[in-house]
Amino acid sequence: MAKKTSPAAGLTKRPPVVVIMGHIDHGKSTLLDYIRKTNIVDTEAGGITQHLSAYEITHQTAEGSTERITFLDTPGHAAFQKMRVRGASVADIAVLIVSAEDGVKPQTLEAYAAIKAAEIPFVVAINKVDKPAADILRTQTSLIEHEIYIEGMGGDIPWVGISAKTGAGISDLLDLIVLSSDLAGFTADSSNAGSGIVIEGALDPKRGNSATVIIKDGSLRSGEYIIAGEFIAPIRIMEDAYGKSIKEATFSAPVRIVGFSGVPAVGSAFTTAKTKKAAEELASKPAAAVLSFPKTDKPVIPILIKADVQGTIEAIEHELEGIKSERITVRTIGRGVGPITDSDVQAVSATKDAIIVGFNVKVERSAKDLAERLGVEIDTFSVIYELSEWLNSALKNRTPKLEERVLTGRIKLLKHFSTQKHTHVLGGRVEEGHIKVGESVRILRRDLEIGKGVLKNLQQHKSDVQRIDEGEFGMQLDTKTEIAPGDVLEAFETIIT
Ligand code: GDP
Repeated sequence: MAKKTSPAAGLTKRPPVVVIMGHIDHGKSTLLDYIRKTNIVDTEAGGITQHLSAYEITHQTAEGSTERITFLDTPGHAAFQKMRVRGASVADIAVLIVSAEDGVKPQTLEAYAAIKAAEIPFVVAINKVDKPAADILRTQTSLIEHEIYIEGMGGDIPWVGISAKTGAGISDLLDLIVLSSDLAGFTADSSNAGSGIVIEGALDPKRGNSATVIIKDGSLRSGEYIIAGEFIAPIRIMEDAYGKSIKEATFSAPVRIVGFSGVPAVGSAFTTAKTKKAAEELASKPAAAVLSFPKTDKPVIPILIKADVQGTIEAIEHELEGIKSERITVRTIGRGVGPITDSDVQAVSATKDAIIVGFNVKVERSAKDLAERLGVEIDTFSVIYELSEWLNSALKNRTPKLEERVLTGRIKLLKHFSTQKHTHVLGGRVEEGHIKVGESVRILRRDLEIGKGVLKNLQQHKSDVQRIDEGEFGMQLDTKTEIAPGDVLEAFETIIT
């Protein structure tokens, strides 16, 4: 870890924490990968497969200075949103990425709304400029049309054309980020107690509970204690973004600390203390175990979420929030990090219609068997997008059907020719809509329903027809009701939605 060189205590410039946001497929991951590959601090890190949800780079600016930047490597804006909802905007600067092929898309606007709400500076990266179909001008125009006023087009939002694939323009983008950061003037003091935000929590089956944190002020020092929400860890096993063991870290580094008393929630603030006793005093009391839910008349789908990391659980819950509808709602009845086990199945088996949703986790053999026996549904995913699709269709399948009766025709009875048992031969006139052979009808007298019947036969202009749209006609109606001229027949269609 490159240590801040400032010798004396006091405020120094703090490297920015950057989030990349934009529509799916516009190149967020490709850009993050490119920047990571070409600018990593630690040259030995190439082979390290550990995936922390943030990394740090150094960038040589066009003016010749060497600057540090931290990038959040989180799955899309759902995670960002969640961190912001908790009142802790971990990112200092956002990059809004827009494909030069597609221009502004719905998630571009969602991302933009989130950035605006977070009130952080941002720059626009128009990506994929290497592609033959790239059209920068059209993309600029689509930005302006959506009130994203970029520089050179009447606005002051800095932008740059890039290719996350070839690397074109990325150095300029990093320059812009450094410039925006300098303008904003982020500072911190490395002699302070460490504080910042948890960006990921995980249960490592071998080593225990861990959290990835981003330091926003002060330093983390080996031998002290870190407190995040109700959980505490001694700062003993601390690693940088490349998995290297470190003794001290300062802003805005992402570090991983192993040995928490529980898995801290994404977005929770952390702080440090010199002694265990002080740490225990700072830790918040655990949340009540029993969650109380608002009452609802809507059907509820109870869901237990299991995922590989805490951040994913948060993202899934955010996703669930988004797909509730007027007729159905989902409720998280449990959440946890790690594989799906017997006890998960046991836990939900008493709850009617509960589903276990796993993300990037295994289902233990015995849990699978138990689920089959108890009739518990388990579904696993490894891509958020597939999960959302599945959730949408699962909800659709479980949404109660609404039957709506729509009036399709109204006729007035003019003549009663004959009756044989329950079959009446009648003459009538279409007042509204149409009627068809085989339809059931309501029989009304002075607007009151007096009975029901079925249209057996229709005749117009002396020939049998299947349907009558207008005018006078003859019919056979089966009904037990005693009908009379002047009565009204109404036909309905039942629509299921
Ligand atoms: P994300 O969903 O925003 O993370 O998008 P990805 O990074 O997964 O990119 C979507 C697709 O676009 C992938 O196939 C990338 O290889 C491709 N892609 C991303 N950036 C560029 C670029 O600058 N040029 C070209 N030619 N392809 C790109």
